[in-house]
Amino acid sequence: MTMSKLALVSAFLILIILIILIIPGSNDENIDHIFLITIDTLRADHMGCYNYSIDTSPFIDKLAGKGVLFENAFTQSSTTSPSHASIFTGLYPSQHRVLANGYRLDDSFVTLAEILKKNGYKTAAFTSTDRHFLSGNINQGFEKYDEPEDTQNEFGFKYRPARFTIDKSIAWISNFRKEKKMLIWIHLFDPHLPYNPPETHIKKMADPTLKDKLDKITENRAINYEIFNNSKEKYFEEVLKYNAEISYVDSELQRLFKFAEKSGIANNALWIITGDHGEGLGQHNWLGHAKLIYQEQIHVPLIFYSAGHIKPKRVRSVVENSSIFSTVIDICGITMPDEKGNSVLTKSIKDLIFKNGDKSSHEFAFSERQYYGHRIAEKKLPAWQTEWENGKKYSIQNISFKLIYNKGVREPNEFYNLSEDPFELKSEISNRKYFKIKNLLRKELFARLKIFKESKRIKAKKVDSETIKKLKSLGYIN
Ligand SMILES: [Zn+2]
Repeated sequence: MTMSKLALVSAFLILIILIILIIPGSNDENIDHIFLITIDTLRADHMGCYNYSIDTSPFIDKLAGKGVLFENAFTQSSTTSPSHASIFTGLYPSQHRVLANGYRLDDSFVTLAEILKKNGYKTAAFTSTDRHFLSGNINQGFEKYDEPEDTQNEFGFKYRPARFTIDKSIAWISNFRKEKKMLIWIHLFDPHLPYNPPETHIKKMADPTLKDKLDKITENRAINYEIFNNSKEKYFEEVLKYNAEISYVDSELQRLFKFAEKSGIANNALWIITGDHGEGLGQHNWLGHAKLIYQEQIHVPLIFYSAGHIKPKRVRSVVENSSIFSTVIDICGITMPDEKGNSVLTKSIKDLIFKNGDKSSHEFAFSERQYYGHRIAEKKLPAWQTEWENGKKYSIQNISFKLIYNKGVREPNEFYNLSEDPFELKSEISNRKYFKIKNLLRKELFARLKIFKESKRIKAKKVDSETIKKLKSLGYIN
């Protein structure tokens, strides 16, 4: 090779390297359409793909079988608004300051929808309640935002069954030009109390072996039947209805998926399915959620599916579902805005999705509960359970162990060996054999609490009547 040829080849190679270095933001996964599905109140362990023996979620199970399923994904709050705010900001509730339902996300926070919109994505959201997202400013960044306008439920807020939310989503997709990029967020509320599923799904779930199956599933869960009027029959009835709600949502998602496939939008699409929190169903003396941070209230599904882009696998590593924020940004090849860099503690799990193996540095999951104010439900609880009613709760866990800190006492005061005691029935806080692991979890927990002190600069804001009035005048709330 002559010197001039060598120089030419070298220059060419340098150019290639420069291009690779200069464009770190290129979307190497060729994913243009993001479907983010959050299913309210969905316990992971009530789905077939999470080893439930009752066939509640055949469609999602199939998708999960062809995608990446995270076996140990945990939400950062057992309450709707804080949990969703974490998914959209990548921050823990103590950082984004949406501490309970009825709190408002400050405008200063940058959301996933805002970042994608800024990078050329069309953004649309279709939600199923009017209580949490628009009034809580969690809709930031969605050009199109649609929430229910009628049908008040018995809790006094508006909601709509999955069918209507999916209808609206399909109508929007029909008019979407698929050459463009998009983020569509769909929130389905049906598994939330009160359980009122369509009759067809009750019938579907009510097979003759159901009671035997439920008996077997729940024998170790230490259900408090007092919550169900001391009637096991009543308990079965409630679980049957809860399962039927999951079955209903599953069938509606299948309808959406089929439509997306038919319209060609499913090519180059990434589907993300998760839950905002679980449900007590009688465990730890609780029917609903939002009050506690035991596994039944924070273990949620997390599934990524993309036809032709993702190899199927199950990941065992512990992950946090608010990692969705950084993960989507990472997959879309977008550079994280500078101001977000240091504050986001929940990191991208893109490598766990697209690369082989499930080794990860994400070995801890954090959850918190700041306030709970459901006075009617409170009365059903024994005194030992209500004494921390207004206190804060924090938990940190790895694959086998979990530490809980009920604030008000000096030190974390519950510790569980999840491998031996998955339903958290016997705290081992005083057992010296766990000294080392307890210390490790304590260190991780307190490191987060220290960072939260800095977040207090931003005052937690409740949705005030002025905001409601303003939204009403804009035609957002009827
Ligand atoms: Zn919720």
